[in-house]
Amino acid sequence: MIESKLPRVGTTIFTRMSALATQCDALNLSQGFPDFDAPTALLEAMARHVMAGHNQYAPMPGVLALRDQLAAQVALYRGVTCDPETEITVVPGATEGIFCAVMACVHPGDEVLVFDPCYDSYEPAIELAGGRAVHLPLTEHSFAIDWERVASCITARTRLIIINSPHNPSGSTLSSEDLLQLRDLAETHNLLIISDEVYEHLVFDGQQHHSVLQVPGLRERSFALYSFGKTFSVTGWKTGYCIAPPALTAELRKVHQFVAFVAVTPIQHALADFMRDEPGYPATLGSFYQRKRDIFCEALADSRFAISPSAGTYFQLLDYCAITTESDTVLCERWTKDLGIASIPISVFYQSPPEQEYHLRFCFAKSDEVLLRAAEILCGI
Ligand code: PMP
Ligand code: GLN
Repeated sequence: MIESKLPRVGTTIFTRMSALATQCDALNLSQGFPDFDAPTALLEAMARHVMAGHNQYAPMPGVLALRDQLAAQVALYRGVTCDPETEITVVPGATEGIFCAVMACVHPGDEVLVFDPCYDSYEPAIELAGGRAVHLPLTEHSFAIDWERVASCITARTRLIIINSPHNPSGSTLSSEDLLQLRDLAETHNLLIISDEVYEHLVFDGQQHHSVLQVPGLRERSFALYSFGKTFSVTGWKTGYCIAPPALTAELRKVHQFVAFVAVTPIQHALADFMRDEPGYPATLGSFYQRKRDIFCEALADSRFAISPSAGTYFQLLDYCAITTESDTVLCERWTKDLGIASIPISVFYQSPPEQEYHLRFCFAKSDEVLLRAAEILCGI
């Protein structure tokens, strides 16, 4: 018999809904992954590096050619410099990077502020580190951070704040003003920050992504996490990176080298080649996914769902309060089985969901045809 260290954790909603979608042969707009392939040049580079024998351990912090490309990309897109040797670590997925960052800085008894609806991997990492997640709700409807409320929840035990922009599952984004508020609190209370920016390039309607890397005062105390899976449509490659100042990076690496040790070697070489040859690729993603969001939302114009177009990520929330007041978890399962369309209920991302929480999350990283078929089903409800 084993005493569980995560007694309240089951199998993730993403795993469960994708499995149910497969079992029911439903359109799968639940778990976030594209149903189209990555750029051919990237796939070819991967095959080339496997065949060229790049199949043994990479250096622990990542292949240097990739870290050099990442530094160049951060300079190009965010206008900031970072040192590939001491500030960039390639990790086997943002999930592992977040886990290592939490393990590196949370001590038993520490409190960590997270915002609900909250991405599912944060709290288990905090608990395994012996800390306690303090959940603050984002504002209803706009899913924004109420900074006064944040200030009122900081105690002598608060060690870390985890933010996520663009935000999964709501699609909301943080403004530069938000980051300044965060900086003031972090400086006053000497807090560390984990900034989950895996959807950094998926922002719409002419907005800019605002990164902690760009804010003096935050840069010095933040771990910023990214995922190649999102940017290059290779979620199954499970590769990401962390940018943090040297002292934080050193602590992250101490953990990372004993959790995974390294990320997968040929993937890193392939990404380095592709980024060198196509530095402008990430800049194409905003308009690419905005078009998909618009196809999906426009096709739903005559449906009974209330829609507020997503500002970022590849997720769209649909509000079903005009249709039913059933719980989202029940509805989600029923529509997967009966109507053949799978989505994600968002109440599962709350410690205590609002009384009237009637949103489902749909992933629009899908072919136009699938989006139109999904909308047709949803319009029939
Ligand atoms: N953070 C958020 C907000 C995510 O949606 C995801 C899922 N891609 C991750 C982290 C984890 O990314 P990865 O697949 O690179 O581990
Ligand atoms: N991040 C993906 C989503 O939000 C899921 C990743 C996972 O299944 N862990 O759908």
